[in-house]
Amino acid sequence: ADDFFPSMLPTGLTFDDVSLATRYSEVLPRQASLNLTLSKRISLHLPIVSSDMDTVTESNMAIAMALQGGLGIVHYNMSEKQQVREVARVKNYVNGLIQDPFVAHPEQTIGDVLELVERKNVKFRTFPVVDQDEKLVGLLPGRVVKERYRSHRVEEAMHVRSQVHTITESEIGENPVETADQFFSDHLGIHKLLVVDQEDRLKGLFTLSDIERISEEARSNLRPARDDRFRLLCGAAISAVRKADGSLDRDRIIGHVSNLVGEGLDALAVSTAHGFSAGVGESVRLLRSEFPDLTIIAGNVTSGDGVEYLADAGADIIKVGQGPGSICTTRQIAGVGIPQLTALYACSKAAKAKGVRILADGGISKSGDVVKALTLADAVMCGGLLAGCKEAPGTILEIKGKLYKQYRGMGSEAAMKAGSAARYGHAVKDLNRKVASEGIEALKEISGSVEEVISGLAGGLRSGMGYLGAKDLDALKENALYVRVSPAGQREASPHDVIVVKAETSEEG
Ligand code: 5GP
Repeated sequence: ADDFFPSMLPTGLTFDDVSLATRYSEVLPRQASLNLTLSKRISLHLPIVSSDMDTVTESNMAIAMALQGGLGIVHYNMSEKQQVREVARVKNYVNGLIQDPFVAHPEQTIGDVLELVERKNVKFRTFPVVDQDEKLVGLLPGRVVKERYRSHRVEEAMHVRSQVHTITESEIGENPVETADQFFSDHLGIHKLLVVDQEDRLKGLFTLSDIERISEEARSNLRPARDDRFRLLCGAAISAVRKADGSLDRDRIIGHVSNLVGEGLDALAVSTAHGFSAGVGESVRLLRSEFPDLTIIAGNVTSGDGVEYLADAGADIIKVGQGPGSICTTRQIAGVGIPQLTALYACSKAAKAKGVRILADGGISKSGDVVKALTLADAVMCGGLLAGCKEAPGTILEIKGKLYKQYRGMGSEAAMKAGSAARYGHAVKDLNRKVASEGIEALKEISGSVEEVISGLAGGLRSGMGYLGAKDLDALKENALYVRVSPAGQREASPHDVIVVKAETSEEG
């Protein structure tokens, strides 16, 4: 009769089931380093990534995350063209030296320039003017880039070469920001400094506002996540696009990813609910062979075998999590998924053996969860915690005097109708019939700016590192010792036996 019962079912644990033991420490929280390397090309100063969800990450969120030292992954519930524009907005955001500025040509009309502004979704209006040999011939001031001047030629509207302030590449010196800063102080009212080579070909552009912002960041100890050309880092997600016969649409995927990479994309995520699957493996292999240098994120998985499979296909970073998300109903609908801490434990061992990184995706609802997740994962991915920020897409709703933003699962019916069906293995045409959605539509109370939310999370993370004597994120992994927490222990961990007058934690409702 005993055969009826398996000898032992493994237990799945999640964040609230464990607590971390304190360790001897010589580390003050503020001294703890939050730097990490996710791939050859991606180094962050904050181990937090924003989810590729249509109520979380578009360009404003990606910019805000990179400014905080983290990374945003732009979702794919939009046209491919729009996604390329969103990535371009992030990559063109703040640059000490903008190395490939948008330019105008003398024979163009202002109307042509306005079309460029529209097409590239740029916020500025001043353009260097170059001839066919890329030689600088003038500067088109923003005040003439207006509809009313549409039919005028750039040539008649620009400041001519002799009126434009330039320095040569060799004059930039060791510290470009300092050089530009000094120039702007010395030249009253001048906001643009162009960089040219010996032949007077345009090589770059400094703007006063970028330089001021960068100096401000340096003063506030902000360390944005940047690429080797000083642009903010940006990621984007795709799904495995299929043709009518069910095979992978290789040309379309390669074409779209080439456009993203052309704008400077740093990481591409193949985001699906079930990453340990033939389609995701095939997509990752295709991308790896076409884009050898691109950082590829793939997922989601919850087993060591899943990590190995995606690592062998060529992924650099693997997303772990099936069903922990705050808007996610996979475990109830499909009866599938592994509590997140156990999933991370299984995946972290395989990741170490394969030399890949893992992202703890979903279920992070307070800073303590970030600390626990990072004892096993390299970075965390957050959706719900960021969805209430002003930088998240979507309008603000007022209900009974309180302000909310929409937050929905990418597997919710509404999000699938807007384009994410493939992520959950459904064809768009199937949506006319009833398909099992694996996510819900919800509201999040407005939670201020990304900066405010992140500073709370980073502060909690630093405290945790201080308690564990961890000077950096590697030491956090090494020093972690867990205890199981009983239901009584869980009760003890939250405020109890008092009447709460002011909640200080970032805990979700
Ligand atoms: P959160 O940070 O809100 O707890 O979780 C966000 C994560 O949930 C996302 O990064 C993504 O992996 C996952 N997710 C997003 N939408 C859905 C959904 O509709 N269903 C499921 N199963 N997971 C989702």
